Parts: sequence; structure tokens; C-alpha cells
Amino acid sequence: MASKLKAGIVGATGMVGQRFVSLLVDHPWFEIVTVAASPRSAGKPYAEAVGGRWAMPRSMPAAVAGLTVKDASRVDEVARDVDLVFCAVDMPKAETRELEERYAKTETPVVSNNSAHRMTPDVPMLLPEVNPHHLQVIAAQRRRLGVTRGFITVKPNCSIQSYVPALHPLREFGVDKVFVCTYQAISGAGKTFKDWPEMVDNVIPFIGGEEEKSEIEPMKVWGSVEADGIVNASSPTITSQCVRVPVTDGHLAAVFVSFKKKPSMERILELWKDFEAEPQKLSLPSAPRPFLQYFAEENRPQIRLDRDAGGCADDSRAAGMGITIGRLREDRLLDYRFVCLSHNTIRGAAGGAVLTAELLKARGYLAAK
Ligand code: NAP
Repeated sequence: MASKLKAGIVGATGMVGQRFVSLLVDHPWFEIVTVAASPRSAGKPYAEAVGGRWAMPRSMPAAVAGLTVKDASRVDEVARDVDLVFCAVDMPKAETRELEERYAKTETPVVSNNSAHRMTPDVPMLLPEVNPHHLQVIAAQRRRLGVTRGFITVKPNCSIQSYVPALHPLREFGVDKVFVCTYQAISGAGKTFKDWPEMVDNVIPFIGGEEEKSEIEPMKVWGSVEADGIVNASSPTITSQCVRVPVTDGHLAAVFVSFKKKPSMERILELWKDFEAEPQKLSLPSAPRPFLQYFAEENRPQIRLDRDAGGCADDSRAAGMGITIGRLREDRLLDYRFVCLSHNTIRGAAGGAVLTAELLKARGYLAAK
């Protein structure tokens, strides 16, 4: 068996970083060799730096608990030992942009969860089942950064990762207008009920910046590849409301949609059922099967029952990577309405980034240094 690529996790002590640790610890293609975070954690064993913040369902892997956390800003020290880094840091955008470029300039590929580079035209914002062809813009990015091996890829915001996959196979009918209301879990803010008790028995009708991201980011994901980067799509028009709800993990979206040419309900169900994309065709380790799952029951998908969709009995690696959909019906204002669900810290964050890294490896963008 070929040896595994050496991975570093930058922001390893945070909510998404912990998810990376859980997903990568026994990954068939990657091994965690380095963890990094802020100067507050640097120099401490990982277990001590995380302390009471460990929020994953499985216990902290022993192989990582004893690793000494490095200072993420000491880029050469972190990059020296790794073939790629996964990055999820809570820092001001300009600093994050700079940090990620510094890693790329050490010829280290960066697979990022941060929003800082999402709108940089030559940085692909990947949903591996939807826009794998956007990897082509890495060539332009490498020219700009003056590197041959390093680059940055980013993930879209967690809020869009249920409805963009559900709408994607329907684009042949000209998706025209979309109204979406998202009901988002508290882990999306890096929180648990222990450190956000105000969320118990509560709903907060505001998540800073989330509605803008929910409306704009799909346009880049559906954008076209041009010589210097991605040019955003000009349709559909999306309007959104994003609400924080008292749920640990899982973002649900209620979607209303109109088409230029209205498809039948049967055709929509067929397209969802048959949708198979590159990660499934390449049998990537974290590719969910199926990617899209429609429930005929009128009370599904439910967050507790369905957020872990995607894995199968003999391999749970893709659990939380599947998108579940339900309640497709005619709408009185637009053409149709439905609900859909994705796991925000798995598909919407670390799991989606791991799937991106698997796609990058399968396409020849990652190799041992
Ligand atoms: P979090 O739980 O607050 O963790 C933040 C991480 O960033 C910690 O590891 C922290 O290290 C590190 N950090 C903070 N300041 C730093 C600095 N100056 N230098 C280096 N590292 C620093 O946040 P999170 O929820 O994991 O989110 C991380 C990123 O992922 C954010 O950009 C967020 O927008 C994005 N994201 C989150 C989700 C989600 O569902 N949670 C989904 C998609 C994307 P210390 O422990 O040492 O402070």
C-alpha cells in the first residue's frame, strides 16, 4: 500500500479542527503529523490545549492527544513536516488570507474551511459533487503566487450545503428564483450548549454575515472557469433568512423555487435519485452513497434522525456527508417547495474539506514532498 500523505491541521483545537482530527485519525490516504493553533495553545500537548472543549462524539484519539501544538503563525515550522494542511482558524479575514498564502508559498497545499479566500477568483470554492471542474483555476493561482506545488482551495459556507446540492441537478430547467430559510445548529458558531446556555429553549433570528454568504456563494460555485479565475453565475436570484436554532449539529433549509421551464415533480424526484457525481464515480473514501436521499415520509428529514446520512453499515466514513431532502410539493407563489438537511461540521466543514482533499489527490494535485 502506498504510504499516506502527511497532514497538518491548523486551528486543530477548535470545533472544526476537532472534527478534522476525528475524520483523519484513521483515514486511508492521510495521517495527522502536526497540529497547530494560536499562541495560547502553542507548546502544550493537544489534550491540554483543548481541555474541556472536546466536543466530538468519539473520544480524543490517543495518537493526537500527545502531539505538541505548534504556533500556526510559525509557518515554516509547521509546513516543514507536512504534505498538505487543513485550515480552520477563527482570525480576522485579512490575517487568515495572509496566513493561507504564506502556507501556499511554502509549496504546501491548503484545504481551507475559512471564508477569507472564498471570493478570490483564482481560489476554487469546492463542493466536490457540484463543481470539481473549478480545480482548473489552480494553475492561474499558482502563477499569481509564484509557486509550483502550493495552492489554496476553500469550502463554501455550511449554510449553502443542503440547498445547492439539491438544486444543482435541476439547473437544466433554469432555476430562476430561490427563497431559502435556514435553521442552523449552534456548532456552526463553534459552540455547545455548555458554552452557549442562552440558546437553550431559544431561537435567535440573526447570524452575522450568513444571509449574504447564503445568497452570493452559490453564484461562485455555479460560476464559469475563465483564464484568470471563476466568473460568478448571474442566476438564479437567491434571497435568504438565516436563523439560529437550539440544535447541536445539522442545518436544515426550507426552500421555495421557481424555474424558467417548470419540471414535473416526478422528473425532480428522478434527477435527485439518479444524481451521481465525480466523488462517487471515483469511489473517494468519504463520498456518500447516495449523495442525495429523498424521503417520502412527510416528517423527514429530521435533524436528529438524518444528519448522519451518507455512510453505510460496513463503512461509516461518509456518515454525515449525505444530503437529505423531503416534502417536495407545489408552491402557491413559486413553482415548488421542499426541505433539505446537511451536517454542518461534517459535510458543511471538515468532512467536505476531507472529501476535497481526496478529490485533489485523485486528480494528481497532492503528492508527498
Ligand atoms: P473555533 O471553535 O472558535 O476554533 C478556532 C480555532 O482557531 C482554534 O483552533 C483557535 O486556537 C484558532 N485560532 C484563533 N486565533 C488564532 C490565531 N491568532 N492564530 C492561529 N490560530 C488561531 O472556530 P470553528 O467553529 O472551528 O471555526 C473555524 C473556522 O471554520 C472559521 O473560519 C469558521 O468560519 C469556519 N467554519 C466553521 C464551521 C462550523 O460549522 N463551525 C463551518 C464552516 C466553516 P486556540 O484554541 O489556540 O484559540
